Amino acid sequence: MRADGIETARRILCVFPRYTSSFGTFEYAYPLTDGVQAFMPPQGLLLIAAYLPENWPVRFVDENLRPATKEDFEWAEAVFVSGMHIQRQQMNDICRRAHAFDLAVAIGGPSVSACPDYYPSFDYLHVGELGDATNDLIARLARDPSRPEQQVVLKTADRLPMTEFPLPAYEMAEMSKYFLGSIQYSSGCPYQCEFCDIPGLYGRNPRLKSPEQIIAELDKLRECGVTGSVYFVDDNFIGNRKAALDLLPHLIEWQKRTGYVMRLACEATLNIAKRPEILEKMREAFFVTVFCGIETPDPDALKAMHKDHNMMVPILEGINTINSYGMEVVSGIIMGLDTDKPETGDALLQFVEDSQIPLLTINLLQALPKTPLWDRLEREGRLVNDDDGRDSNVEFLLPYNQVVDSWRKCMEVAYKPEKLFARYQYQCDYTYSQRIKVPVSPEQKSWANIKRGLIMLKNIFWKVGVFGDYRRVFWKFALGRLRHGDIEGLIASSLLAHHLIMFARAASVGQQNASNYSIRLREASVAAE
Ligand code: SF4
Repeated sequence: MRADGIETARRILCVFPRYTSSFGTFEYAYPLTDGVQAFMPPQGLLLIAAYLPENWPVRFVDENLRPATKEDFEWAEAVFVSGMHIQRQQMNDICRRAHAFDLAVAIGGPSVSACPDYYPSFDYLHVGELGDATNDLIARLARDPSRPEQQVVLKTADRLPMTEFPLPAYEMAEMSKYFLGSIQYSSGCPYQCEFCDIPGLYGRNPRLKSPEQIIAELDKLRECGVTGSVYFVDDNFIGNRKAALDLLPHLIEWQKRTGYVMRLACEATLNIAKRPEILEKMREAFFVTVFCGIETPDPDALKAMHKDHNMMVPILEGINTINSYGMEVVSGIIMGLDTDKPETGDALLQFVEDSQIPLLTINLLQALPKTPLWDRLEREGRLVNDDDGRDSNVEFLLPYNQVVDSWRKCMEVAYKPEKLFARYQYQCDYTYSQRIKVPVSPEQKSWANIKRGLIMLKNIFWKVGVFGDYRRVFWKFALGRLRHGDIEGLIASSLLAHHLIMFARAASVGQQNASNYSIRLREASVAAE
């Protein structure tokens, strides 16, 4: 549903801030594609765009694709911004630019909801999820779109049930410019890992959309031209196991009906390995990737961070089980934990070898506001300023340089081309081979898709196979894929591998952040007004 009952129309400019270069945005892969420029379309801002009254003209600009222009600001009567902590400086910069046109600027989303005081210059702070605060904001702007004399803070007390969420305005985003499509089924997570802000922000009792909404969203994504991979951005896809089981038959039916037009991916806790009834249905629905926050292979560390649920099955056994249903595991890893020892880096590299996981996001521990970790470190006097050349705001128990050096070594060794492609080869042999055999969908057979594939193959062969310095390792892998006729697998693995190799090289010489949350090396150094 939309906000309704508002007669006066206002022109709203929704601006999504640029991301800083980071491991998780795969930007080194973009030059090998047919024009991808950004990671995923922003769910939150597209949802708000769809929720605004029907008579309100909305313009959406993702600054990862192009900056908001003078003409955009001159057109607008008010500006909406949303984003995460890592985009804080860019959000403040958008606010500064909008104020130059004397526009009121409202900010919502996860960062301002956790830390309103990060955003002193904005006119309206929307704290919390879609709900009564959103209606209040719309009503205020309808009455008067000019800048209020003082900052107005609107907090959601009454959240809109997710079953009443409108379909996100995917039609406003240039979907072909994104690496992945995105979709959201649930919000919240029942666990309470010490470092995580999800339960504090979104609750422990997951809220849900209906399966019918998800099918309608998939149809809309398809209409908007998405045919490749779609990522369920839910904090934990099995946060409510019954709901996951309710949804999966609908996804299976949709995939069958559309000819398996999309490859699905999600985030879930590792204890999904104990649920064969869910895994079997996920295989049928053509889930091909599961991101698991494994965090560390050290059981003492998992206990200390209250992530015992990762040990419900032995970790390597859990990974093998998920692989046996055709799903590749992507793993989050944290270094700099209080339980880390000088030999932690070597143990991690051994885990990488043993697990055969190709893609691990290895980050330094960062304390996020509104988490139990933040509270504990504050009590212990171990929160430090990360504005000043550090990659973490945590005073580690080991010396800082030792932790960063260990992280760099892990990145360098784990993503050596021969090691990485060996792990991808393992996945081809033992994971991808377990997937259901899907028909070639009409979209895949289309000339547009074939042309897309040919452009990517040309780029990969030319930039990696001819000019790349790891071309011998690449060709060994590529020829195997070509012999199996697995062009799609060749393209997907090559794109990801290139990003991982190039990012890790930059990281190992200190040119990339050791934390997805670190503000070091952020390109836009723009202070709040
Ligand atoms: S399981 Fe994942 S989403 Fe849930 S609290 Fe832990 S880290 Fe956060």
